[in-house]
Amino acid sequence: MNGIVDIAIIGSGPSGAQAAKAAVERGLTVALLDFGNDNPALNSVPNENFSVLRRSDPNQRSYFLPQTMDPEASRSDKLGAHFTAPRAFISRDVAEFLPVESESFFPVQSLALGGLGAGWGAGTPTFEPFELERAGLPVAQMLRCYDEVAQDIGVSGASADDTARQVLLTRFAQPPADVDSNAAAILARYNKIKGRLARKGLTLGRAPLALLTQPLERPGLKREANPYHDMDFYGQSAFSVYRPAYTIRELQTKENFRYIPGAFVERFSEDEDGVCVTYLDRTTNGRSELRAKKLLVAAGAINSARLVLRSRNMFGVQLPLLCNQMNYVVCINVAMFGCKAADRRHSLAQLLALYTPQHRAPEHVAAAIYSYRALLHYRLVRDMPLPPWLGLLASRAIMTSLTLVGVHHPERRSSTKWIRLDARDGGDVLTAEYRPGAEEQRLIAADLRGLSGCLFSLGCVPLAVIGTEPGSSIHYAGTIPISAKGEDSPLTSNDQGRLGGSRHVYLADSATWRYLPSKGLTFSLMANARRVALAAANELR
Ligand SMILES: Cc1cc2nc3c(=O)[nH]c(=O)nc-3n(C[C@H](O)[C@H](O)[C@H](O)COP(=O)(O)OP(=O)(O)OC[C@H]3O[C@@H](n4cnc5c(N)ncnc54)[C@H](O)[C@@H]3O)c2cc1C
Repeated sequence: MNGIVDIAIIGSGPSGAQAAKAAVERGLTVALLDFGNDNPALNSVPNENFSVLRRSDPNQRSYFLPQTMDPEASRSDKLGAHFTAPRAFISRDVAEFLPVESESFFPVQSLALGGLGAGWGAGTPTFEPFELERAGLPVAQMLRCYDEVAQDIGVSGASADDTARQVLLTRFAQPPADVDSNAAAILARYNKIKGRLARKGLTLGRAPLALLTQPLERPGLKREANPYHDMDFYGQSAFSVYRPAYTIRELQTKENFRYIPGAFVERFSEDEDGVCVTYLDRTTNGRSELRAKKLLVAAGAINSARLVLRSRNMFGVQLPLLCNQMNYVVCINVAMFGCKAADRRHSLAQLLALYTPQHRAPEHVAAAIYSYRALLHYRLVRDMPLPPWLGLLASRAIMTSLTLVGVHHPERRSSTKWIRLDARDGGDVLTAEYRPGAEEQRLIAADLRGLSGCLFSLGCVPLAVIGTEPGSSIHYAGTIPISAKGEDSPLTSNDQGRLGGSRHVYLADSATWRYLPSKGLTFSLMANARRVALAAANELR
């Protein structure tokens, strides 16, 4: 595949991978440019049960413990750790190539093959029609694309659960994953008192996940159902948890697709006929160019904006920023205290609660419920106000009943949340501010109070609420939002993802969204990316 391609895509994260899949399926020639850091050693983590490996593998240190003790590694190696040792490559090179200066916003970014999707938690709730509308996304197109994505990546979920009408708006879900002992106890209690909880605004169901419960096989792709080894944070778990890299590998078997790794895209320019993308080729350390009829920028909402600002020489201009705020509620599930838990389990979120208090309705607060084991005692002990030996005893005593609830709050735009590209020393740096207002903080405090009451009713006694620093939710959006009035100004987009003031450049990630519901955004990102790729494909016709 030489010369000008139909579509160039920047980024192999969930957005870029799904945009590429949709375009290749339509017979277009596609080149995907990506920095593309990878860790082939991921495949050598044994496909075996966690407790067996802990008891018997002499090499377990290599995947259970961090390789370095540098500050960045230890910063992300906490209770709600973002990346375990085998996935540390996901944030490699970020500090050098994607600098962010801020005292109030600390994003997690990636230059990996698969982007942040190389380590995501695979929670796949759908947005409801009112949430899509607030984000500016056309409902009918999104619902169609949810179905396409679900069939492509494999999404499992429980269509009979109380939350299904809010979080599982696809006709193609596989059966839900089995829940672990802790979640089963919470679900049993919920089923007894769900009328009372509904009056308080809480519904609960099994978490929809991009985790296979049935095999998925087609040319270039072979993935198995989850083996319930509780090793999903470390190895590949029979490829049961969707990673965008699987899509890229599958596409590499097609003649009309080219993956270009080691490419750090610096800027793009546009003329009547198409787009020219300039990138640093890390194999030669020289500059290269790629020409395409259409360009889909899918570098993640923050870095897509960085590329647009740099390409248009718009330094010092503030763009809006959306990022869900997040808290953890640490609970003890009384029904499990002192009880043994079954070994057979997956490591991802077990349950998803939607809390819809009067001060938010119809908006929800999303609470993902995790059990704790595979992330190991040492992270717990380190965060306990006890000497290590006592911490270890305490940690062992509570482990099977420990319940972590990751709470995300809805997010809307404000003038105190922004990013800006500043020229600096012949290059540039992104600066950011994220300061929620007093009213927003009041709402969040009310969310946490009400939700803690519901958790208590479920038998989960809240021990602590741990706030996280802005950026930790890893849900980013809204930097180049869809124009509300349909005008074609340079730092907005239209509802098909086309960048304002451009004929050939599209934003295929969440940069265009005007609102972020509390639910995980990545299923919607992938559906949206397919939708934007189709819009670009239609223009080519
Ligand atoms: C630990 C963790 C758990 C998560 N859990 C969930 C969850 O359960 N549910 C959920 O919905 N979401 C979750 N997320 C968030 C999810 O991973 C992101 O929403 C998603 O990955 C964003 O996809 P994206 O393709 O838009 O961007 P990214 O994943 O950030 O991908 C960006 C891509 O662009 C490339 N790139 C960037 N800049 C350049 C450049 N200049 N040149 C070349 N390439 C470039 C990168 O290499 C990368 O491939 C989680 C994230 C993490 C880290």
